[in-house]
Amino acid sequence: LKIGTPKEIFPGEARVAMTPESAKQLQKLGYSCLIQSGAGKAAGFSDDAYKEAGVEIVKTAPSLWKQSDIVAKVRQPEDKELGYLTKVKTLISFFNPGGNEAGMEAAKEKGANVIAMEMVPRISRAQKMDALSSMANIAGYRAVIEAGNNFGRFFTGQITAAGKVPPAKVLVVGAGVAGLAAIGTSTSLGAITYAFDVRPEVAEQVESMGAEFVYLDFEEDQQDGAATGGYASVSSPEFREAQLAKFRELAPDMDIVITTALIPNRPAPKLWLEDMVQSMKPGSVIIDLAAERGGNVEGTVADKKIVTDNGVTIVGYTDFPSRMAAQSSTLYATNIRHMMTDLTPEKDGQLVHNMEDDVIRGSTVTHGGEITFPPPPPKVQ
Ligand code: NAD
Repeated sequence: LKIGTPKEIFPGEARVAMTPESAKQLQKLGYSCLIQSGAGKAAGFSDDAYKEAGVEIVKTAPSLWKQSDIVAKVRQPEDKELGYLTKVKTLISFFNPGGNEAGMEAAKEKGANVIAMEMVPRISRAQKMDALSSMANIAGYRAVIEAGNNFGRFFTGQITAAGKVPPAKVLVVGAGVAGLAAIGTSTSLGAITYAFDVRPEVAEQVESMGAEFVYLDFEEDQQDGAATGGYASVSSPEFREAQLAKFRELAPDMDIVITTALIPNRPAPKLWLEDMVQSMKPGSVIIDLAAERGGNVEGTVADKKIVTDNGVTIVGYTDFPSRMAAQSSTLYATNIRHMMTDLTPEKDGQLVHNMEDDVIRGSTVTHGGEITFPPPPPKVQ
């Protein structure tokens, strides 16, 4: 069969779902690879590099979609792209199934099979296909780089002939995949790094990375801010008050705040309130990685960088992985390639959409003319 990757059409999206390297691996699975001309350009992969890797270059999107049995892309498909689907096609892409009823209906009507990359179950066996994690890792790293770019000072402390420079103080709120990547990057740049999460079990990980876990004055057995299956749930009002009180105390002392707190299927919790922003020093920087889901910070504007009256920069960009398109494309294309490996048990270029397999079943949102979202819970943890 043929697997093809079109150029992303979402404005500003620089990632691509197939790289020359991933194409070589896909060919080892028995597939022919196609790419739309220019699809890799913004991520640093030229048509020539694909050609050298044995990929056929196709001029236009309609032709690419027409010729491909399997289409791998990054962003949730737009209406035009859904229009190219047919009964014999499989689409592998981010799809946002929870908020994309119309997209699922369209794919179902066409009879196409859709694998939504954000639905890959978070079990050990599927980590190699976990694109949410690979993208969150990049977002966390890039958040620190973005903060450094907007912060007019060093991260690390220095004693120089021209004077003594104190180290920057960085607070990371939310220590999931993105938060841990931010913590690692921040400590490696030499900042004094603090981190908070409602899941106290991450404290050890935070400390092993050289950061300080922020504890609340709160009875742990009353804490329901914690977890269901490794994820956060909504905090009790008492817990939230204790958390906000702690942040209020920290705010005047922090140079950089990076927020990454999310609760599955809910808007992002508001954790860094207006008065905390107001009490920060001029020149401080906030990076709100939750901006796409409404933001953790009061005053964040999605996709914008703003400077408050008291001189605090708040960055609400929602495209951090795309801002590191070479890296994110490489990791995403590898996630896709691993998905294809599981879909090709005989390595003979034939896709076997095995709905008995937990990972494939869990990620499939339309199959055989049916909507198959939401999936049943996985059998194996
Ligand atoms: P996420 O993006 O859903 O949330 C980010 C973090 O925000 C979480 O750590 C969450 O606890 C925290 N948070 C929520 N509300 C908060 C609040 N009020 N204050 C402070 N922090 C708050 O999470 P994620 O990065 O997707 O990871 C969630 C969990 O899943 C982690 O334990 C991670 O290790 C685990 N995980 C497992 C696998 C796997 O097994 N394959 C893969 C990825 C992640």
